[in-house]
Amino acid sequence: MDLGVLNNHAKKIDDFDRTFYQVKPVSGISKEPAPGVHNIVSCFGNNELGKKETELCAVGSGEGEQRLWQCICPSAESYRQELKEYILNLSKQEVAGIHLDCIGLPGPSYCSCSRCQKLWQESGLTWEIWRCKTVTDFIGEVKSILPDTMPLSLSLYPDPVHPERFGLDLKSLEQYADFFLVPLYDMTYKSPYWMEVLANAFRRRLTKPLYVEIYMKGPKEKDLLAAVQAVAAHADGLVFAYDTKLSRELLPQIKMAIENARTL
Ligand SMILES: [Zn+2]
Repeated sequence: MDLGVLNNHAKKIDDFDRTFYQVKPVSGISKEPAPGVHNIVSCFGNNELGKKETELCAVGSGEGEQRLWQCICPSAESYRQELKEYILNLSKQEVAGIHLDCIGLPGPSYCSCSRCQKLWQESGLTWEIWRCKTVTDFIGEVKSILPDTMPLSLSLYPDPVHPERFGLDLKSLEQYADFFLVPLYDMTYKSPYWMEVLANAFRRRLTKPLYVEIYMKGPKEKDLLAAVQAVAAHADGLVFAYDTKLSRELLPQIKMAIENARTL
């Protein structure tokens, strides 16, 4: 089992197999690349740009929407180019990998802007397939400009069964991703049975490695360990988010919880 941490510090944490760092968060403001670390780039979540250039924002009815940030239209060509250039430059640094976050659309009606409507109609595809293809094609374009040896990983919204909601088709994304990271966040982890259900469902649908992200800031230690145990049998890796100190302190118990999950 690969163990990692995710934080906002541009520093590799030696006790873990991998460190993830948000080099370009949803704020849209990028920071210095972190060497030896998986640098996380928020793709279509960009608050700064969304507020400044509203014509680039994704358009939709709001129905079934799940988002906490400004979403940019995935067909905005200038933005796609800008993003690819940024990622290409990032890959030239001494990073351990490129990790893409916010790759999907905010809900089933997005993006209905005039750019997207035109491209969809020209495609001859169904709305659902066109949306998935738009997202997957972007990931493919990123993959094509990266060095072959540069690991590329993707965050997924934690819904393994409805590609039409966010335009995330696991089967087509798999061809470009070296591994997937699924955030299964909870503020308490009091009843983590749902984590087992989701991790198992992703496991059944993915052939590439599955990493599950666990939120460390808040839940009690025993509940965090119960969360680890709930998903460990289905995951290839676990990533502990936003409390590196606690993650390090709990490492022996975390390893024990993983062992327990394997022997159940
Ligand atoms: Zn659009």
